[in-house]
Amino acid sequence: MAHTTDYRGRFAPSPTGSLHFGSLVAAVASYADTLQHQGSWLVRMEDVDESRTVKGSADEILHTLEAFGFEWDQPVLYQSQRKSRYREILDQLQRQSLAYACSCSRRKIAQQALMGLEGLIYPGTCRQTTTANLSSKAVRLRTGMEEICFEDRIHGKHCQVLEKDVGDFIIHRTDGYTAYQLAVVVDDADQGINQVVRGADLLLSTPRQIYLQKLLEFPQPAYTHIPLVTDARGRKLSKQDRAHPVSADSPLSGLKSAWKFLQQAPLPAGPGSIQEFWQWATSTWDIARITTPARPQHAATEALPHRQ
Ligand code: GLU
Repeated sequence: MAHTTDYRGRFAPSPTGSLHFGSLVAAVASYADTLQHQGSWLVRMEDVDESRTVKGSADEILHTLEAFGFEWDQPVLYQSQRKSRYREILDQLQRQSLAYACSCSRRKIAQQALMGLEGLIYPGTCRQTTTANLSSKAVRLRTGMEEICFEDRIHGKHCQVLEKDVGDFIIHRTDGYTAYQLAVVVDDADQGINQVVRGADLLLSTPRQIYLQKLLEFPQPAYTHIPLVTDARGRKLSKQDRAHPVSADSPLSGLKSAWKFLQQAPLPAGPGSIQEFWQWATSTWDIARITTPARPQHAATEALPHRQ
């Protein structure tokens, strides 16, 4: 890809199964936006939670992306190979007393906690605990009462007060794995990502990520959260459910369905090849066409490109 600007986008699938239509939509949105801005596009394998990794699915996802005509500008980054980097950042946050070890059981938290935006709000039970021994303990990030706002390119202004809305959240898990929230922030910064285009299920996570960026003095990327593809019952498609895998055998029909789902200008009678599709996508992509649905959009099951 000819990249002449400092736009740096990325696609960050978790290798927990085959690429499904929802991930394809996210990849198309991020790639089309990058192409239009003549930026660079990176792929990161989010295999930080190795307990959920499905053997072979990282390679399968990359193969599928290639078949769809996606091209990335750097070698794929694997989170599973970045443990020492995450540990360095975790140690820094603990040294600065911004994070603390927590051994509260879910039950104990549930007894005291109120329901927040995304699950229970951690009530600060272990906040005063200081312990050097972190093995088998979760590490939580200390949150505050300041309002954290950002301007999403589709959803507009979105604000949260983390202490009130979410509570001190986990950045390192009891099972020893780095939590997604920390890994994604460190990786986006280390890869120089300045444009994050991803599914709207992560809209509510964004203030936590921005808060971490502020604490770590990392630059803040721009965020765009695209509508989620849901099944007929309104649930997000998930790779673990083996939901609607896209077929590398019929990439053009998958790309056209994703384009339509993203509410983009109707394609001309062609294009007849994936190269033509991407040329068309580069010149016509318009993020302003994407509206936020009052209800999640439903991907008509029959329109989905199923694997045969
Ligand atoms: N790994 C996440 C997923 O597959 C995406 C995370 C992100 O884009 O920040 O849903």
